[in-house]
Amino acid sequence: MATETNFGDDSSLGPRFERFKFGEDEQNKKKRIVFIDKTLLRDRVHYKDGYGYMRCLQPDHCPACAAGMSSSDRYGTKVLEYYTDLDGNVSKPFGYTVKAFVFGNGKGNGTFCVLNGIFKQLGEKMYVRDFIVSCSNPKFQQMTFLPLESCFLAEMKQARPNDFAEVKADYVKKMSDMDILKVVAPVVTVEIMQKVVDGEIVRRSTKNPQQAAAGAAAQPAPATGQTSFGSGAPTAAPAVATAAAAPKDDTQRKMMDDLSADL
Ligand SMILES: [Zn+2]
Repeated sequence: MATETNFGDDSSLGPRFERFKFGEDEQNKKKRIVFIDKTLLRDRVHYKDGYGYMRCLQPDHCPACAAGMSSSDRYGTKVLEYYTDLDGNVSKPFGYTVKAFVFGNGKGNGTFCVLNGIFKQLGEKMYVRDFIVSCSNPKFQQMTFLPLESCFLAEMKQARPNDFAEVKADYVKKMSDMDILKVVAPVVTVEIMQKVVDGEIVRRSTKNPQQAAAGAAAQPAPATGQTSFGSGAPTAAPAVATAAAAPKDDTQRKMMDDLSADL
């Protein structure tokens, strides 16, 4: 069915915010970030070579589970990446980008495990420290996280509270514009997943972005659960799929509360 639209409506293009990741030419480059969002989302996904990630459809019929495909946990949060020099020193003039950071747990030694270990050491201080992040293998996004003693934003808050207030208003706005749910585990319909499992679809369509949008519309109840870096080893059972999803507004309200508590 045709619908009327206009050139300003980019809803069919999907989420376009930037991702925190290392490009192939960025091996061993140092990036500096701060975890500005205490909300960490977790979802259960299947991965098919060529096609990519699909959210597990349990507790409803899930063609990938039915075919015996393994599933894994995938996580998403938001980070602030500073503009820096090659050594990770914050540039003058000060600048930054708010990015979506989506990662998995590998085979029990992936990014979540690394950050869980850091959380066990630092606790809530994790959110008021800057990290120097480097990546030895961009293909698999294998990152190392070096916590610094200081946090540029926290120092700005102390020394220049007015400047900090302006910066904070800006990054909070950018964070609220960013719907992480859409990138942690892209939703496909049961019909499309069946075709992917059967090999009838081998690649995510870039010609028909409505396909993904239609899939999202068919799944009104997101299965994504909230978690934290301190929640320990991910569960093997799809417990996440049955966890009640927090409405987006509540998620964001919580995020604002968390932010006002620290940075
Ligand atoms: Zn499944």
